[in-house]
Amino acid sequence: MNLPPTGRTAEDLLAEVARLKEHDLPVRGGQVTAYVYDTGRAEVNDAATRAYLEMLEVNCLDPTAFPSVVEMERQVVGAVAGLLGGGHGIFTSGGTESIMLAVKAARDLAGRDRPNLVLPVTAHPAFHKAAHYLGVVVRPVPVDLETYKVRAGEMKAAIDEDTILVVVSAPSYPQGVIDPVEEVAAVAAAAGVPCHVDACVGGWLLPWLREAGAEVPPFDLSVPGVTSISCDLHKFGYAPKGASVLLFADPAARRKAYFASAAWPGYTIINATVQSSRSAGPLGGAWATLQSLGRSGYAELGRTTLEATRRLRAGLAEIPGLRVLGTPESSLVAFTGADVDVFVLADEARARGWFLQPQLSYAGIPANLHVTVTGVTLSGVEAMLKVIAESAAAARERGPVVLPKGLIELVAGLDLEAIDDATFGELSASVGVDLRPGTGQPEMAVVNTVLDALPAEAREAVLVRFLSVLYSE
Ligand SMILES: *Cc1c(COP(=O)(O)O)cnc(C)c1O
Repeated sequence: MNLPPTGRTAEDLLAEVARLKEHDLPVRGGQVTAYVYDTGRAEVNDAATRAYLEMLEVNCLDPTAFPSVVEMERQVVGAVAGLLGGGHGIFTSGGTESIMLAVKAARDLAGRDRPNLVLPVTAHPAFHKAAHYLGVVVRPVPVDLETYKVRAGEMKAAIDEDTILVVVSAPSYPQGVIDPVEEVAAVAAAAGVPCHVDACVGGWLLPWLREAGAEVPPFDLSVPGVTSISCDLHKFGYAPKGASVLLFADPAARRKAYFASAAWPGYTIINATVQSSRSAGPLGGAWATLQSLGRSGYAELGRTTLEATRRLRAGLAEIPGLRVLGTPESSLVAFTGADVDVFVLADEARARGWFLQPQLSYAGIPANLHVTVTGVTLSGVEAMLKVIAESAAAARERGPVVLPKGLIELVAGLDLEAIDDATFGELSASVGVDLRPGTGQPEMAVVNTVLDALPAEAREAVLVRFLSVLYSE
């Protein structure tokens, strides 16, 4: 950007924001089945937006200067604790930060020299990120390839004297199934190790699905052996982004998540979160969303979400060549294709205005597409099924992606450290992948097929390079 020589008007700027957003996926309406959570209720968005703006410039850095922050956070955390078996909480910016703090607290409680973290392969990458940042080794445990759940016995076998934390998901994001929380927590407790339940996506969903009649096993802090749980309000709480709650059963564990520093001559630092200066906007937005929907609002969203999920599963079962993975116990549904390339299917759906989220094959789980069913899905579920059926037929017609001969070997053998971003960009363009921004709707099947053929470490290296090229000047 060239900084304008003189200031511009808000109208002018907002017109430009609208133009910048032209190629964005729509955040409302239910045609984007990941990333966004829509209640379909305008008055809820309105309440959240206004409270968010009201709190925007309040700084969570110093709770003594802004007591509104303390009061609002107590209320929001209290609401989550009320739903999830009690506990002592922290309001954070999202699932990743909640998980980062859960791992930090566990690490500092245990005080091991070579700490490790035991988790199912289906656990969210935020645990790998936390482990990476915090100097903890990850011990991934495979899941059952029928149910996609981890087995307590295998988790037990992976625990040793340096294990600082055991993780289960309720549900795991990829297939939407709930790990055996009670069994794993018991195994962890017997070994004297804390157990974190990642309910980032499910914490504010499963209780309402249960109320609507779904079978939901116990998964929260009321389960013996569960010591902490994370719950993102910016997912099924339908709050604006930047809202998650981390709960600890024991206040002493929560204190280990905190950070204080008096080691400089400036203001004293007391932080409950990774961020220090931090807008209270997301807290205001979450607080208002919870109040605006209330119990009855969430119960109703739970009913429509459950109904839409059942309809989606039944509808997918009728589309030739498609198969739902496992038995989803929440409202996250993943499906794969037998004679249909799912990456091509996703591009076909996108051309028809629907975004389905591709998931690469991993640890014996085939490549698949992920749909997060939300409160607004029900009104469009038949349209979604029609688009999936048409896209599957079109994908079958087109056939699977055929990569230029030798491409995978070429990419796998690339010394990424030795080439610069410009060269990487040219290489991508030569196989038909245009990384320049603003080039409209990308066909992603080729990219996904290349990534899918690479081992995880090579995928990561390519992805980092992709981001670097995306943001190159
Ligand atoms: C979304 C999610 C996370 C990470 O949350 P962010 O808010 O994206 O940082 C962690 N675990 C699960 C199961 C999730 O669905």
